[in-house]
Amino acid sequence: MFERGIEIKTPAQIETMRAAGLVVGETLEVLRSAAVAGISTGELDAIAHESIRSRGATSNFLGYHGFTGVICTSVNDEVVHGIPGSRVLRDGDIVSIDCGAIVDGWHGDAATTVAIGEVPDEVTELMRVTEEAMWRGIAAASLGGRVSDISHAIETTIDAAGDYGIVEGYTGHGIGSQMHQPPSVHNYGKPRRGPKLVKGLALAVEPMVTLGTAQTRTLADDWTVVTTDGSWAAHYENTFTLTDTGAWVLTALDGGKARLAELGVPYGGD
Ligand code: MG
Ligand code: MG
Repeated sequence: MFERGIEIKTPAQIETMRAAGLVVGETLEVLRSAAVAGISTGELDAIAHESIRSRGATSNFLGYHGFTGVICTSVNDEVVHGIPGSRVLRDGDIVSIDCGAIVDGWHGDAATTVAIGEVPDEVTELMRVTEEAMWRGIAAASLGGRVSDISHAIETTIDAAGDYGIVEGYTGHGIGSQMHQPPSVHNYGKPRRGPKLVKGLALAVEPMVTLGTAQTRTLADDWTVVTTDGSWAAHYENTFTLTDTGAWVLTALDGGKARLAELGVPYGGD
């Protein structure tokens, strides 16, 4: 059912999205362990493909506008949409891995950034701040609130943490029977704007943060988004919904229970 272009899911449909979300969350866990120095991004993609397939799901990335991977692998100054291939990860790299899956027509979408061996403290901190911004964005969402409450929490978390670039051209999004649906979830902005947060809405929240400016450009492969100034970037994403009891992070293995509790937010999962 759609209300003003926004898909409102039934509880049963949300349960199926949870199944898709778990495939994504479990696949990202597998990839976290697999992402070590010497592995290529193409090999990670093959592992992800097998993980999605063996869990009875299909990929929503593969073939999306012609995309050739089941994950995006974005290394160092690559922000998002990196194409898996022959690039070999080296000690000191970071790789952002974005993954999605479909179960019975319902989508999950999540991303994480992984350090390969030792990285500089400022890079570890970039990753921590970006992940924290994602969680604080989710934590700012409540029934009756507005979409930009999330945006505002993301921006204020990043701004309070230091001098970072918040990438502007790419946003979080509604998700359900399609991977990308209205509304857009910006990573900055004033609170209390945009569509109301209602039961049955599902959103992917995904801050993209750099150690430099917010400016990006797309490489000649028409996919890979890199920072214009060459600074490194991190990307974290989860798909979540709101129930009568609180927030439920559909792509987190524990449903978000632990991190939401730390932030004082009631858990809405079952
Ligand atoms: Mg994603
Ligand atoms: Mg997304």
